[in-house]
Amino acid sequence: MRPGFKKAAIYAAVISAAIAAEIAILHLCFDREDEEGPQAMRWPVMGTVAQMTSRRHMDEREFGELLVCVQASYARVEKLLSAWNPESELSRLSAAGCTNWTEAASPEVRPCYEAALRLAEESGGAFNPRIGEKLRALGMGRGRYSRFDLGAIAKGFAVDMAAEEVERAMGGRYFSFLLDLGGNLRAVGAGEWRTGVRNPFRGVDASQPGICAVITLLGGESVATSGNYERFVEKDGKRLSHILDGRTGEHVSGIAGVTVVTPREYGATLADGLSTTLFVMGPEAGAAFLKRFYPLALALWIPDDPASPRIIVTPDMAYRLERIEWPAEKTR
Ligand code: ADP
Ligand code: MG
Repeated sequence: MRPGFKKAAIYAAVISAAIAAEIAILHLCFDREDEEGPQAMRWPVMGTVAQMTSRRHMDEREFGELLVCVQASYARVEKLLSAWNPESELSRLSAAGCTNWTEAASPEVRPCYEAALRLAEESGGAFNPRIGEKLRALGMGRGRYSRFDLGAIAKGFAVDMAAEEVERAMGGRYFSFLLDLGGNLRAVGAGEWRTGVRNPFRGVDASQPGICAVITLLGGESVATSGNYERFVEKDGKRLSHILDGRTGEHVSGIAGVTVVTPREYGATLADGLSTTLFVMGPEAGAAFLKRFYPLALALWIPDDPASPRIIVTPDMAYRLERIEWPAEKTR
């Protein structure tokens, strides 16, 4: 087999595994108070799977109209921020040698660039959207057309944009939706949802439970997960994380997964960006970082230690968990 083809085949396998895994997590989101059962729609977008779930069966036409709003938001973000499409605004700015990204970007997506650059500054470069160059050098950015990488935050941003559209369209009326874009979830409107944290070791050992904890998500909150099990690269039989330490360019090891819950005022953008940042930082530095910059965010780390599975949580996250399968430690 030509080496290029083999690489492409492996890549395709990894992508389909990632999509299958994401579908698996979608099934774990269930609803608390519904008698009628939720109404849901799922479709592929931005290299992943999106889902929109309504708590109570709403009028089909109304659900359809809101679905169009959500799909249009994702499509706009993809058109502007995709690193895989050479025609996206991000790719074109990159090709033109852009340096002042926030100024050059369309006003609609400017907050996404701003959030990414702010996180980079606050985290001392652990989160680093300029990692795109490095990813390409490592062969992980194949097909990418941008030096600036918003892959760690753009999906969360798209969810926030869609949530705003839905809120605007619904005016003051009652509604309750769960938006999910590749594991970036936001509870829009009223009501609580529950979501499972997937067991990252399940792939290696099928006797393990499918989920290791259940998180309650309140109306307006978002949750995001970064893991080394959905997308990764393999080198010499070793699985390497697709997340790099933005300060050194090294693959991050030691953590199998991070889940972050954020309140309405931070949104899904920060849940997404923070999950990647806290994956790089680990529990100790990560908890100190949250205390200083994002005190309202809750976080959970799963150390990459299948022999003794455990979770490490910030004190407030501990109150959100039900059905914890493993021993839990708290950060200070
Ligand atoms: P997902 O693959 O589920 O979107 P993340 O939200 O954690 O997971 O984003 C990971 C992506 O972020 C990588 O594929 C890469 O494009 C980018 N990335 C990797 N390391 C960093 C980093 N240190 N800072 C910012 N972005 C990063
Ligand atoms: Mg992220």
